[in-house]
Amino acid sequence: MPVDDRHRLRPGPLEPPRRLLLGPGPSNADPRVLAALARPLVGHLDPYFLALMDEIQELLRYAWQTDNPLTVPISGTGTAGMEAAIANLVEPGDGVLVAQNGYFSLRQAEMARRYGARVATVERPWGEVFELDELVAALDEHRPALLALVHAETSTGACQPLAGLAAACRERDCLLLADTVTSLGGVPLALDADGIDAAYSGTQKCLGCPPGLAPLSFGPRAVERLERRTAPVGSWYLDLSLLAGYWGGGRSYHHTAPISMNYGLREALRLVAEEGLEARWRRHRDNAERLWAGLSELGLDCWVAAEHRLPTLTTVRVPDGLDPKQVPARLLAEHDIEIGGGLGELAGKVWRIGLMGTNSRPDVVARLLAALARVL
Ligand code: PLP
Repeated sequence: MPVDDRHRLRPGPLEPPRRLLLGPGPSNADPRVLAALARPLVGHLDPYFLALMDEIQELLRYAWQTDNPLTVPISGTGTAGMEAAIANLVEPGDGVLVAQNGYFSLRQAEMARRYGARVATVERPWGEVFELDELVAALDEHRPALLALVHAETSTGACQPLAGLAAACRERDCLLLADTVTSLGGVPLALDADGIDAAYSGTQKCLGCPPGLAPLSFGPRAVERLERRTAPVGSWYLDLSLLAGYWGGGRSYHHTAPISMNYGLREALRLVAEEGLEARWRRHRDNAERLWAGLSELGLDCWVAAEHRLPTLTTVRVPDGLDPKQVPARLLAEHDIEIGGGLGELAGKVWRIGLMGTNSRPDVVARLLAALARVL
């Protein structure tokens, strides 16, 4: 058969630009993580890889401060973690309450609807957080089986306080699901002490690893909910009862785990364990404060009130009269620095600056502030 050569490009070798990634993610990966990605492949049922899977699970438990046996990296990005959590915790007809104050809680609500939930919402303007009382009142009004919220809302830069919420959920037989994509490894968080029943995250933010895996953890109440299901999970790939057989004792084949990404995640989590969580949280906080002080000197305002600001993602109000796209475009073109624009309701209103993982450093803050000063 004659071969059609029309699509046969001959591109040059891969030479991506060296950017400083200070947007909402991905952040730059630590060089040690990048080196780990290039290590020799083994098979996914090789004893070496099986032992590595155990290490990753244990290191994830440390990073999340949990004893949950069902703590695994889902193969896919943060959204796959969100979908795995919702697909497994929701059965058609279940009531789900979503605390909506940003882009990613809208996504949680949409997913829950697609898995057949009756979704109710409690809402706050983007950039604000919920008081415990208003969440408890919404729980009493809607009596949901699941409350979903975003701990670290990357679209707004706000950090949702969790104190008291778990107890309120437990008293009402409601599970608490938290999106921790922009908090795991950067913002104080302890799944067990905070009473979070289910959480998911991503590798590409504070863990300093490329995008590609979504850590997920289910506590005893979430596992019990799984076991009580009467309807099969709507997604075969993300069905945790099947995945638990792959990551747990049985090691039965489910899919071929992305070996290299798991090498990268292991190295990223090794870095977290070496640094220690408290030191890592403090580092993220200290560098965020450096950034906030520098932004203020440049005459720029943050969108979120200081007490609810995430240390990992800062939203900066675009000054009146400035084209919101021009500053990020010039930072990229002239300084090789990526920052993000606003998302959803905040499009055109804010810039988003991430200081996550290896990028949370004083020299990085200084480089960004100097570049911003020139561009402005
Ligand atoms: N949740 C939050 C809070 C996020 O910031 C993101 C991505 O930015 C996601 C979920 C989805 O993750 P991903 O884009 O890796 O699929």
